[in-house]
Amino acid sequence: MNPDTETTIDLTPLRDDFAGGLYTASDAGWDEARLAWNLAVDQHPAAVVIPEDAADVARAVRFARDRGVRVAVQGTGHNAAAYGDLTGVMLIKTERMRDVAIDPGTRTARVGAGVTWGEVIGPAAEHGLTALAGSSHDVGVVGYTLSGGAGWLARKHGLASERVTAIELVSAEGDLREVTALTDPDLFWALRGGGGNFGVVTALEFGLLPVPEAYAGTLFFPLERAGEVLDAWRRWAATAPDEATSIGRLLQIPPIPDVPEFLRGRSFAAIEVVFLGSQEQGEELLAPLRELGPEMDTFAMASPADLMALHMDPPGPVPGIGDHQMLADLDAEAIERLVAAIGAGTNSPILAFSIRHIGGALGRRAEDSGALGALNGRFMTFAVGMVMDPSVVPGLRAAFESARKALDVVDNGAAYTNFAESPVEPEACFGERTLARLREIRANVDPDGLFLANHSIDA
Ligand SMILES: Cc1cc2nc3c(=O)[nH]c(=O)nc-3n(C[C@H](O)[C@H](O)[C@H](O)COP(=O)(O)OP(=O)(O)OC[C@H]3O[C@@H](n4cnc5c(N)ncnc54)[C@H](O)[C@@H]3O)c2cc1C
Repeated sequence: MNPDTETTIDLTPLRDDFAGGLYTASDAGWDEARLAWNLAVDQHPAAVVIPEDAADVARAVRFARDRGVRVAVQGTGHNAAAYGDLTGVMLIKTERMRDVAIDPGTRTARVGAGVTWGEVIGPAAEHGLTALAGSSHDVGVVGYTLSGGAGWLARKHGLASERVTAIELVSAEGDLREVTALTDPDLFWALRGGGGNFGVVTALEFGLLPVPEAYAGTLFFPLERAGEVLDAWRRWAATAPDEATSIGRLLQIPPIPDVPEFLRGRSFAAIEVVFLGSQEQGEELLAPLRELGPEMDTFAMASPADLMALHMDPPGPVPGIGDHQMLADLDAEAIERLVAAIGAGTNSPILAFSIRHIGGALGRRAEDSGALGALNGRFMTFAVGMVMDPSVVPGLRAAFESARKALDVVDNGAAYTNFAESPVEPEACFGERTLARLREIRANVDPDGLFLANHSIDA
């Protein structure tokens, strides 16, 4: 887009009193400022504001509100694709707000809005504690948690949003508030799963767990064995205890230096498991999968930091597109169809097609749960393809569509916003009753629709 024709807003009145960075299309550093973690997303907001602290966020929100400009927020931009190009919107990027405080006494962490999971897991582990992080070290704690957050301990301990104890937020009036179950029960409920629809979160406090290690690893098989391996895994998963969270995958790994040498340029069916128990118990649990005779077996006792590397997510920003489905269950037919659609010999360009086993605590809604509370389904998929060149996009979309059709037989029509990288019907994410309550709360706290979430619940 030509900077002269790009929609922009004049940030001059904000500049005197703003500690952080302010960018419009005519400023040096604009192209870097508008980048998201997902480098395939070409964002063209009217301005990018990078606050130093909560006071800066409040200034920016008041500035936008007074001018009738909508406000979007990003911690990292992992889920930037769902936003679109952000034309006419002020984008607040919280990446400089990186405070982390661990309190081993109360087993809580309080983090700034720009903190990523790797920055919490390391310091928490020094006290034998961990958090309900996802698979990736550089996903933002706040964005992930506001929309639920399903990680390696999830079948035992549920969604990350269920551990939240306090939320510091800048409201649509531009006021800084501390939201808890006592100060504001409705808003506290909405923020635990309802995403970025209610304000700009500036800090988050949540409970930690005394989990110093787990038995974890991956079994790698040739991709040609995907049908047999995934079928054995889904039968194993049906009786696995909540202590085990696992993922079945089809992997086609490019020959790039970012992945371990033994995996470069190779294709696999893989089973990843994290088990909260001893090595002995874990070996017993894994025996039926090991009987399949994996080509490689990486299981060992693993620290919380090791778990952040297990899924082999990219070490930093990359260009990619993704797709996602929620599945009522998995059966032999669905797996057969999936492997026929995107398995060995199909020329599928999908880098990783992951099927996450959910259920357990992820499927149980507590009485005092937040807006999301639980995930609807027994499995969910997250497919990713790299976009090193735009010419690969049609092929990737066609492969996603083939996988989608193959799994239609078990698709339950629900969606999980964290994995949805394009707009989805909010009813599919929350159900009608929860959505109605979320919309009512939003109408109370943001009547003019100032805040624009990547997954908006606007009526
Ligand atoms: C490689 C990879 C691995 C992943 N692994 C997992 C996983 O294991 N489990 C899982 O559940 N998800 C996982 N995800 C999905 C991830 O949780 C979502 O992409 C999530 O939205 C990322 O949050 P973010 O802050 O990093 O991203 P962003 O794109 O910055 O934020 C996402 C949205 O959150 C809202 N938001 C962010 N910050 C604020 C704020 N301060 N105030 C108000 N609203 C805000 C905004 O609406 C924003 O659009 C993964 C994604 C990727 C790409």
